Amino acid sequence: MTSTRLIDSYRHQGLRKLLVKNIRLKGITDENVLAAMEKVPRHFFFDSSFLEYAYEDKPFPIGAGQTISQPYTVAFQSSLLQVEKGEKILEIGTGSGYQACILAEMGARVFTIERQKTLFDKTTKLLQTLRYTTIKTFYGDGYKGLKAFAPFDKMIVTAAAPFIPDDLLDQLKVSGILVIPVGESDLQTMTTLVKTSDTTFSKTEHGAFRFVPLLTDKANEK
Ligand code: SAH
Repeated sequence: MTSTRLIDSYRHQGLRKLLVKNIRLKGITDENVLAAMEKVPRHFFFDSSFLEYAYEDKPFPIGAGQTISQPYTVAFQSSLLQVEKGEKILEIGTGSGYQACILAEMGARVFTIERQKTLFDKTTKLLQTLRYTTIKTFYGDGYKGLKAFAPFDKMIVTAAAPFIPDDLLDQLKVSGILVIPVGESDLQTMTTLVKTSDTTFSKTEHGAFRFVPLLTDKANEK
C-alpha cells in the first residue's frame, strides 16, 4: 500500500528547489549537501496533515515531543561533516530519519541511534519503505555510541548535548570529525571536534542553534 504522502509531485519538487535556493542564499556552499537536499522529499518525513509545512525553512514537531531539524541546520551540520563517499557515519538522534537520508544520499554508510521506541519503530519502517538500505537504525542510548561498529569516520549529534560524551570521542577514527551542538541553556553552540591523535582533539565553534535535549538512557515508554 503506497500512501499518497509518499508521492513526490512536481509541486513538491518545485518547492524543494526553492528551499535549496533559499538555503544557498543563507550561505551553504557544499554542492553535495545541496544536491542531496534537492533529492530527498522532506514531506515524506511529515504526517500527511502537515505536508504543506515540509518546504519551509523551519523545524517541525514529529511526535513524541521531538522535532525534525530546520533544513538550514541539517545543511549546516552536513557541511561541517565534509562527507566523502563510503564513509561510516554515526548519527545520534534518528528522529524522523531525514538527516540520515541526506547523509546516505551523499554516499555515506549511516548508523543512527534513537532512544524513543515509537519513533525508532516508525522511522525504521519508513526507511525500509523508501529503500534506504545503507542506513542502519538502532534503538538505544546515543551517549554510549555504537561500540560494536566503531570506529567511525564521522559523527553527528542532532540533539543538544550538555557535554561531549567520552564514548563518542573513543569511537571516532583519528582524523575523524564529530559535529555536536553543546550547551544546557536554550541555545547551544555548534561545535566541531577533529580527532588529531588517540588522545587529542582540535575544537572549532560555529555559532548558536536550538535543539531538543539529548536525554540519558532509553525512553521509558508505557
Ligand atoms: N536527526 C533528526 C532530528 C532529531 S531531533 C531528524 O532528521 O529528524 C533529536 C532526536 O534525538 C529525538 O528524536 C530524540 O528522541 C533523540 N534523542 C535524544 N536523546 C537521545 C539519546 N541519548 N540517544 C539517542 N537519541 C536521542
